[in-house]
Amino acid sequence: MIEQPYVYRRAELTEPDWTRFPGWAQVTREEWESAQWQRAHCVKNIRQLRQVLGAGLSEEFCADLERDQRERATMSMLVPPQMLNTMAPGTAAGDPGFTQAFYADPVRRYMIPVFSDRRPDWPSHPYASRDSLHEAEMWAVEGLTHRYPTKVLAEVLPTCPQYCGHCTRMDLVGNPTPVITKHKFALAREDRLGAMLGYLRATPGVRDVVVSGGDVANLPWPRLEAFVAALLEIENIRDIRLASKALMGLPQFWLSDEVRAGMSRLGATARERGVSIAIHTHVNAAQSVTPLVANAARAMLDTGIRDVRNQGVLLCGVNDSVEALLDLSFTLLDGAGIMPYYFYMCDMIPGSEHWRISLAQAQHLQHQIMGYLPGFATPRIVCDVPYVGKRWVHQVSRYDTELGISYWAKNYRTAVEAGDPLALRREYAYYDPIHTLPAEGQQWWLDRERDRAGNGLAPAGTGLTPAAP
Ligand code: SF4
Repeated sequence: MIEQPYVYRRAELTEPDWTRFPGWAQVTREEWESAQWQRAHCVKNIRQLRQVLGAGLSEEFCADLERDQRERATMSMLVPPQMLNTMAPGTAAGDPGFTQAFYADPVRRYMIPVFSDRRPDWPSHPYASRDSLHEAEMWAVEGLTHRYPTKVLAEVLPTCPQYCGHCTRMDLVGNPTPVITKHKFALAREDRLGAMLGYLRATPGVRDVVVSGGDVANLPWPRLEAFVAALLEIENIRDIRLASKALMGLPQFWLSDEVRAGMSRLGATARERGVSIAIHTHVNAAQSVTPLVANAARAMLDTGIRDVRNQGVLLCGVNDSVEALLDLSFTLLDGAGIMPYYFYMCDMIPGSEHWRISLAQAQHLQHQIMGYLPGFATPRIVCDVPYVGKRWVHQVSRYDTELGISYWAKNYRTAVEAGDPLALRREYAYYDPIHTLPAEGQQWWLDRERDRAGNGLAPAGTGLTPAAP
């Protein structure tokens, strides 16, 4: 037997016992498997969290959470029972070690962030910003980001059945928090969706639409089906991807009779027209892949759509190890038939430094996960570079590891660079978390921020090119 850095083990999927939580001790399987029950019992605040978890959750944890919500959180709390049940799955709520297990849990770390999780030195990078990918700047019509030549992103609604602490669309998605107001769409939904379809009918160069939000699972099913059916009638649209973390967070929605029947209708039309429909979900930890999630993925594949793929986010303390990434990828592939597709580096939104990792670490992880999964199912780790788009982490043009600044090039123009003759020759910057830099680099950023503060300048900027060291 040759010793290997990673040892493959086929994992059995398990649905943790929800009756271990005092608040759900009487919940029946029928209730649990109902999307309506799940939506009605989402945890939205600390009081509800305590009601479910009981006295096993310490006062210290609740105070830590309350402080985070008051001072740092960019997303409000919304956790479906399905997701909460996968946190600290091996520990009963009454066990003395429950709070500790809950603190350490990878799903808790990104769904229910607490103040002590965040970096005290650099909670945000100086170049962090709302809408860090500048999606709204690239709206062709409201909510339709045209960033790549042949692809668009349709933000059909600004809500989800679950809110992730690190949401890259924190500018738009969810409810306001004490520190973040949210951008509001100006157009009514019907006008917005109508304008999107009008743009796509008039723009034959677009062949690929990501239908996203938010999460499409929050659009009433008949409205979502009608929108996708309208896309299927547009001759130039050849790929449609439905973005739904709820396939994992609320699989009961995708398992409902109404949705299965509707997806079968869409799948049949798509096949007839030679168009691919896929569902893109967002799973960050292997423990989230339960039998219900696998059933939902398989039910969708049975409708005749092309694929169900995962776009996870690479998060420190959640999945930033070779074991975590490969365990998750194998569990998705073997257990649920979900294709491991991408891991995105966490975007540079405010308050995300404790989740982000350096480009060097991302490159190392990409190197280390190669060769275990089939090539078609080996996820690419990508950096979504502002004004550029997704780039594989090894595509960097140059990289200053002392200051943690990587420089990237692009090979297409977006609407915002239509008149920019230098767009394809420019270098675009991305920044490592400062706490991961060598001492000299950390000092450089400290001095820079002190100088800026001394000159009365705001601490953040979003320039295309950083100041030269
Ligand atoms: S599901 Fe996606 S859009 Fe919704 S909060 Fe999470 S990351 Fe944001």
